[in-house]
Amino acid sequence: MYYIGVDLGGTNIAVGLVDENYQIIESVSGPTKRERSSEEILKDMASLCKEVMDKRNLSEKDIHSIGVGSPGIASPKEGIILFSNNLGFDHVNVKNEIQKYIPVDVYVENDANCAALGEVLCGAAKGEKNVVVVTLGTGIGGGIIIDGKIYGGSFFGAGEIGHTVIQMTDGLACSCGRKGCWEQYASATALIRDAKEAAKNHPESKLIAMAKNQDAQNINAKVVFDAAQEEDETAKELLNRYFRYIACGVTNVINALEPSAVVIGGGISAQKEYLTEPVTRYVQEEMYGGLQLKTIIKAATLGNDAGIIGAALLGTTL
Ligand SMILES: [Zn+2]
Repeated sequence: MYYIGVDLGGTNIAVGLVDENYQIIESVSGPTKRERSSEEILKDMASLCKEVMDKRNLSEKDIHSIGVGSPGIASPKEGIILFSNNLGFDHVNVKNEIQKYIPVDVYVENDANCAALGEVLCGAAKGEKNVVVVTLGTGIGGGIIIDGKIYGGSFFGAGEIGHTVIQMTDGLACSCGRKGCWEQYASATALIRDAKEAAKNHPESKLIAMAKNQDAQNINAKVVFDAAQEEDETAKELLNRYFRYIACGVTNVINALEPSAVVIGGGISAQKEYLTEPVTRYVQEEMYGGLQLKTIIKAATLGNDAGIIGAALLGTTL
């Protein structure tokens, strides 16, 4: 039996054929061109699904189900994207559209939740039952897994951990309408913003020298980590503060849910222990009543594949 996972993004539609060992054995992708109608976008998605099936000469009877990960809020079993700002979708029935072309079961889930499920099935948190995955990217995505299943909340909106406030007084304005949200301080975007500011104030630091073309505009998260490794004081100070911001939100998550593992995803997870070791140390410092931290804090291991694998296996865990 095979599973099809779709990562429906604002820019690209990525489709993977996944086998029973959670391996992506075929993949294809195409542009979303999100200015189009949902019918046109989903027709393309169905064609991409057919394409991965054709690559292995598979028919509908070989496919357990198709799972779609999408930004926004979705009703998984009904197969409906209730709202996606990113795609401009409002109550779009993905299941009905896909089934016009491929008669198999179709499920839809928030993309961060799919990535969390992927990491639990075969990534950093394999074998763990209660896990929270936080993805530090443009914002902060969150996925909560309880007893091996995605916890979607009562109305499908759970897991928005990035929008928990960590700074009430003079907090930075957030796209969600609140001020001081965690993602304004601990997302990759926040680190890059702060690094560019620090580079301006400390022209002697290695941040600019190590950026591509020695242009401050090219400072990214990797430049900050690389400069810190070379003992650049500005970068070290910057990262230290950044780790504390991450730890603040992770501690909130642990205090609320006490998962056995917290997985940190996003491009920054490539830093592995350079990220998880200091964050773990700061979380330990902030633990409730000084209790011993038992939750393991790990870097994600699947990268972009997590979302596709998690989406593909949705039908087996709902
Ligand atoms: Zn917010």
